[in-house]
This record gives sequence, structure tokens and C-alpha cells, in this order.
Amino acid sequence: MALDEYKKKRDFTKSPEPAGKDGRKSPAGKTARFFCVQKHLASHLHYDLRLEHNGVLLSWAVPKGPALDPATNRLAMHVEDHPFEYGEFEGVIPEGYGAGIVMLWDRGTWTPESDDVEAALAKGDLKFTLDGYKLKGSWVLVRTKGGAKWSSGDSDRSWLLIKHRDQWSGELDITEFAPLSVKSEGDFADILAEDNPDVWRSNRPAQGGDTGKLFERIIAQAVAMKTGRSEGSEGSKASSRSESSKRSSRATTTKKAAASKKR
Ligand code: MN
Repeated sequence: MALDEYKKKRDFTKSPEPAGKDGRKSPAGKTARFFCVQKHLASHLHYDLRLEHNGVLLSWAVPKGPALDPATNRLAMHVEDHPFEYGEFEGVIPEGYGAGIVMLWDRGTWTPESDDVEAALAKGDLKFTLDGYKLKGSWVLVRTKGGAKWSSGDSDRSWLLIKHRDQWSGELDITEFAPLSVKSEGDFADILAEDNPDVWRSNRPAQGGDTGKLFERIIAQAVAMKTGRSEGSEGSKASSRSESSKRSSRATTTKKAAASKKR
């Protein structure tokens, strides 16, 4: 089954990730179906692009995230298919594979630009249109090396994610400009504060380096948020209010910018 590799890598008694169900029917041909991008802070920060196809989510890990500039090719590593239910997942993975924080960074629909997705994947050239909250317009995934293999477990996992030039392309750094969740409107610290900031007390997903520092900062923020919330004093109420209004004004800015890009 398509989800064998996904299931083999995870222990669902320890991970909050969905185990997934088989048997979902997905639309075929040039029909819109679900897509999402999950921002995943694990041993390294990356963005997981997931496209619904044949009942599962085809998945690519994009270390630098999508770029709206057609001149910028982003490396996209093909990884194991994920269950359809994964597409709404946001939360904290306490241990094991992918331990860290998952944020639902974008979601919407994707539409293949050719009728035969299987053929496009086998060829290593999948053109599609996205209609998400942050990502829109025409894109392509191109396999970098020759070789006709597509199935997971092969060695040709290296693809490039490239934006086509259209009304949605541009120089704006979308990962910087719109860094927050489309589900909770929060950042990593908010997601962690909803869960347990102490979850990696003994084995943090990244110790040293930039990622280790990022984890330290996010954990400290989450602890502070949680302490503020549980105190329930006037001061902490006021500060959490200002924090959430700051967040919604950021979300409004994103909407405005997305709308103004449409012209
Ligand atoms: Mn990931």
C-alpha cells in the first residue's frame, strides 16, 4: 500500500500524527483537489508540499520553502506519501521521526495542468496550478536527474519546485512575508504553548547550530506564553490580548497584500 513507508516510520502510540485510512477516492484529470504546505521545524526547518492524488498526499520536503520568483529554483526532496488526513495536521511531534513542530502554513486546492498525473510524475515534469491562501498560480515540479523511476524508495528523489511567470509570481519572499499558520494564525511558539513546551526536555530535535538556537528561543517563548495564560492576572490578560490583536493585524496585512497582488 501507498502508506506503508509512512506507517513504518512512525509509532502512533507516541506521535499525534494521523495514522490515516485507506480507500479515499480522489478526483482525476484536470480537477481541483486538496493541497497543503506544512512548515516543519524538526532537525532542520523545511516546508512540506503535499498534493492529493489517488487518495493520498504526494509529498516533497522543500528546505527553503516555495519561492514566488520564477528565477529561483527550490530543491524539493520527494518523500513518502502521507495520508489524506495529514493535510489538516498541526501540532507537536514529541519524539521519533519528524520530532518537532508542524504548522499548517498554507492550504487550498491544486489542479494538474495535464490529464495524466501518473505520466507527468513518471516523466519527472508535473505542471500544476495552486489556489491556496498564500500560494497561487502556475508551478512546476521537475525531477533533477534522469531516470524513469518515480515510486518511493528509489534514489531519484531530488526535484526542483519552480514558479511559472504569471500574475502571482514576483520578488516577494512569501515565507518571510507570511510566516504564520493558516489554521491557528499562530507561530511555532503558539503551537508549542498549546501543547507542552517541556516535551523535549531530554532529547531536543536539534541541539546546536541555528536550528538548536531557534528551538531554544521558541521553547522559551512558549513557556512564557503558557505561564502568562495560567496566571490569569490583568496584566497577562492584557498582554495576551495585544499579542492576539497583533496576530490578526498581521493576518489582515497578508490578505491585503494577496488581494493587491491580484490587480
Ligand atoms: Mn517534514
